[in-house]
Amino acid sequence: MNTTLKNESARAIYDVVISGAGPVGLFLACELALAKCSVLVLEKAIEAHSPLKQLPFGIRGLSSPTIEALYRRNLLQELEIHKHLKNPHQNAVQGPRRQAGHFAGIPFHDGDIDITQWKYRLPGSTPASLITEMQELETVLSRRAEALGTEIKRGFAVTGFNQSNEGVIVQAGGESFACKWLVGCDGSRSVVRKTAGFEFAGTEPEFTGYSAKADLLHPELLKPGRNVTPTGMYMQSQPGYLAIQDFDGGAFHGSAKPVTREHLQEVLRRVSSTDVTISKLHIASTWTDRARQATSYRNGRVFLAGDAAHIHAPLGGQGLNLGMGDAMNLGWKLAAAIHGKAPEGLLDSYVTERHPIGAQVLDWSRAQATIMKPDPNARALHAIIADLINTTDGATYFAGRVWGVSTQINLDGKHPLVGYSVPNFEFEDGTKIGQLMHHGHAILLDFKHNNSLKKLANEYDGQIHYISAVAKNQLGLNAALIRPDGIVAWATDDVVDINELQKVMATWFS
Ligand SMILES: Cc1cc2nc3c(=O)[nH]c(=O)nc-3n(C[C@H](O)[C@H](O)[C@H](O)COP(=O)(O)OP(=O)(O)OC[C@H]3O[C@@H](n4cnc5c(N)ncnc54)[C@H](O)[C@@H]3O)c2cc1C
Repeated sequence: MNTTLKNESARAIYDVVISGAGPVGLFLACELALAKCSVLVLEKAIEAHSPLKQLPFGIRGLSSPTIEALYRRNLLQELEIHKHLKNPHQNAVQGPRRQAGHFAGIPFHDGDIDITQWKYRLPGSTPASLITEMQELETVLSRRAEALGTEIKRGFAVTGFNQSNEGVIVQAGGESFACKWLVGCDGSRSVVRKTAGFEFAGTEPEFTGYSAKADLLHPELLKPGRNVTPTGMYMQSQPGYLAIQDFDGGAFHGSAKPVTREHLQEVLRRVSSTDVTISKLHIASTWTDRARQATSYRNGRVFLAGDAAHIHAPLGGQGLNLGMGDAMNLGWKLAAAIHGKAPEGLLDSYVTERHPIGAQVLDWSRAQATIMKPDPNARALHAIIADLINTTDGATYFAGRVWGVSTQINLDGKHPLVGYSVPNFEFEDGTKIGQLMHHGHAILLDFKHNNSLKKLANEYDGQIHYISAVAKNQLGLNAALIRPDGIVAWATDDVVDINELQKVMATWFS
C-alpha cells in the first residue's frame, strides 16, 4: 500500500513510535528522548500495574550490561535494588562460599570466581548482578521517559501499520499515528513482528513452567531451594511461592487452559514426589522454553527489540537483560539517523551486533533446558557440568556468561578491549567515567593530553566529548573511543595512530 505521511489525518509526526511500554520500550524511549527525538509510546494495557510484575513474580535478575546502562544514565540510584547489592568484587576473593548464580539449577559460588581473569573489569565497577522488580523498573523508566518529553498512551493496542519510504502510519486504539520509525517492543506475541512479516525461527519447548502463589497445607514437605528432580524442577522461594518446571513438551502452556488448583497440585505432587496439598491458589502463570528469534531485527523503517525480537526460557534470567541491551544499542543509532548524522550502515549495525548476542542467549537457555530433562543422558551431562562449575575456571566462565561480564560485540579492532563495555575508570578527582555518560554522548578519552585528539573530537559537532584526564588505574591504555552505549570502539596502549582513529570515528559518527 502506497501510504504517505501527508495523506493521513494523524495529528503529529513523531520521530519514533514505540509499541509496548515494557522495560525495553521504556528504556528505548529514554534513550531516544535523551537524544532529543520526539517519541510516542503506545501501550495496550490500561493499567501500568499488574500483579505478575510485582514481588515475587516480578523479580528479575539484572546482569552487568544492564546495570552499567542504568548507571550510565543516572537511573540506577532510583531503584531500590541498591539495597540488594551482590558485588563480586566484595565477595569473590576470600569471601564465604555463597551462591552467586546458577546454570540449569547448578549453583556457582562467589568464592570460586577468579575476577583477575576479567582483566578490564576494575574494582569499584558497578555490581555484576542485582535483583529488581519489574514494576519498579517500569515506574522509574516511565518517569524518566516522560520527564524527557516522551508521550505514553496507555490503553492503545497497536493493531497494524503501513510503512512507505517516508515513514510509518501506526493504527492503535482506533486512531492513526504518523512517525518516521516504528519499533516493536510489544513482547513475545508482538503485533509489530507479525504485521511486518518478520520470520521468527527457532525450537519448540520441552516443558511448561509455572509461577504461582498458593496456600499449602504442609509447605515443609517441599525441600528448600531449587530442586532438580527425576520429573522436572520445583522451588519454593518462600512459603507458598512456587516455581515449577514440568517436562510435558510445553503442552499445558500451549493449551492456553487456566491453571486450576487441582492441576497445579497434580503437577507439584508429581514433580516433587510428595503428597503436598494446595488448599488455595491465589495466582498462577505459565511459561515455556520455546526459543525463537526474528531472523532480522529490521524491516525498512520498522525495528524489533526485546521479547518481540527473541524469546527463550527465563532460566538464569536473561531476557530482560538482552532486551535492555537491544535498547541501549538501537537508541543512539536511531537518534543519529533521525538527526541526519548516521554514517552508512550504522542502523544496520544494530542487527549485526545484537542478533548474534541474542542467538547466544537462546543457545544458553536451550543448553539449560536440555540438561534439566528428566532422562539418563541429561543427568549424565548435568553431573559433568556440576563438576566443572565447582572449579575456578568453571565458576569464572559461568559467572562471566550469566552476569554478562564477558559479553563482547564483534567489532573490527586490534585492541582486546574493542567491543567490550568501557571499564569504569576513576579519575584523580574521584569522578568515574560512567558518571560522565549521563547525556548519552560518545567520549574520546585521552590519558596523554594529546591536542590532536581534542581537535579531532571537535570536528564532530558535539557528538563526541573529549575528556583529557588521568585515571587512578589506566589499565595500560593511552586513549579510547567510547560509543554512546558505553562500548569501546577503539583503544590503544601505544602512540595514537591518527589515521586509524579517524577511520574508526567515521564508521560511527558523521
Ligand atoms: C517467570 C519469568 C522470570 C523471568 N526472570 C527474568 C530475569 O530474572 N532476568 C531477565 O533478564 N529476564 C527475566 N525474564 C524475562 C523478562 O521478563 C522479559 O524478557 C522482559 O520482560 C521483556 O521485556 P519487553 O519490554 O521486551 O517485553 P514485555 O515485558 O513483555 O513488555 C511488552 C509490553 O508491550 C505491551 N503490548 C503487547 N502487545 C501490544 C500491542 N499490540 N500494542 C501495544 N502494546 C502492546 C504489553 O502490554 C507489555 O507492556 C523472566 C520471564 C519470566 C516469564
